[in-house]
Formats: sequence, structure tokens, C-alpha cells
Amino acid sequence: MRLGIDLDGVCADTVGRWLELYNKEYSDCLTHANIIRWELHEFVKPECGTKLYNYLNEEKFFSGLDPIPGCTEALAELHELGHELFIVTASPRKAPTAAFDKLSWVEKHFPFFDTKNFITTHRKDMIDVEILLDDSPHNLLTFPGMACAFDQPWNQGVDAEYRVKVWAEFVALINRIDPVNIEPFIPQCECHGYASGHGPGTTVFINPKGSIIDEG
Ligand SMILES: [Mg+2]
Repeated sequence: MRLGIDLDGVCADTVGRWLELYNKEYSDCLTHANIIRWELHEFVKPECGTKLYNYLNEEKFFSGLDPIPGCTEALAELHELGHELFIVTASPRKAPTAAFDKLSWVEKHFPFFDTKNFITTHRKDMIDVEILLDDSPHNLLTFPGMACAFDQPWNQGVDAEYRVKVWAEFVALINRIDPVNIEPFIPQCECHGYASGHGPGTTVFINPKGSIIDEG
């Protein structure tokens, strides 16, 4: 299957680094558990406020993130199982090196990963993958395929199709899913006369392995 994997908050402990910098500068002691909504600036001291987001624009911010436990092993296993992995991540638009720093991070921690499948975008709903693993409420709610929430304090209210608490659970979930029974994305699966024996106007549903599973 084609698996879309978010980076921040799923592969990398971005909030951990973020809070480390904030706590040090503003003498606070916030932890992940305190961040119970996506709007992180609501939890910091007023004198910080939205200045919090400036940390993301610092050069090398993303280079120094810690991997989330189990991530590298799980992605290596999914890669070995033949799944096509895509890292799909939004990079701050005012940070000139963020995308490159993220790509460097991926190369360092996932040596098996094909870096041509590194995608940086704020429109994950446009990405052609069958499953998106993400921690952002917005992405989980707008992705048109199967969305799997990576459990974090800030996404507890999101009603995602799937939810995993640790990386091993995601591997187990993928192993349970029969790719033949994945709901096809209609726009990508409509085939008008291209499949042998199927005339124009025929809708042919093709599973991820390329075989025809239904037609109408
Ligand atoms: Mg994220």
C-alpha cells in the first residue's frame, strides 16, 4: 500500500524540542501533556504568545529533533513488507531551510527511505496515498482516504477512522488491512477504456496491487 507518514509529532518529537526552547527562554515547565489543543500558543505565557512559532523558523530547528520511539524500526519493517512509504510534511513557509532540514533528518534516521518520496505540502488532502498517519486534527479531518491518528494529547477530540498509540500498533494495523477491501479513491480509480476488455465509460476499480476488483 501507499502509506503517507507525517513527520512532526509522528516520526519526530517536534513539540518536545519546541517546549525545550520555550521553557528555557520563558522559565516555564510545560510538557506534552499540557498541550491538549492544536493551538499551542494558548498554553504558553502571555509574554510569549504567538512568538512561540518563531522557533520553527530558526535554522536547524528540525535537524535536531529526537525520533519518536519505535518509528525507525516500524518504518523499516513496513518498507521490508513492500509498502511504499511517503513522508508528507508541512514546512514553515517563512523558514528558508526547514524543508531541507527535514529532508536531512529523514535521510539520517531512515536510511532505507527513498527520498524522492519526501513531500512537503500544506495540502495533505491532495496526496495520493491510501492511508495517512498524522497527528494534526486538520489533516485527519480533511484527508479523503483512510486517516489514522497518531495519538497525542492535542488530538484527543478527533474522530479519526483509526487511532494508534505507538508505532508497533500502526504496523499491526497495516498488517490487518486487506488492500483489496480499501475503499478506492474514485477520481484515481476511474478508468475509461484503458483496461483491456473494458470499454469507455466503464468504471474500473483497481486495488493497490494493480488487479481489477470491481467494475460498474
Ligand atoms: Mg504532525
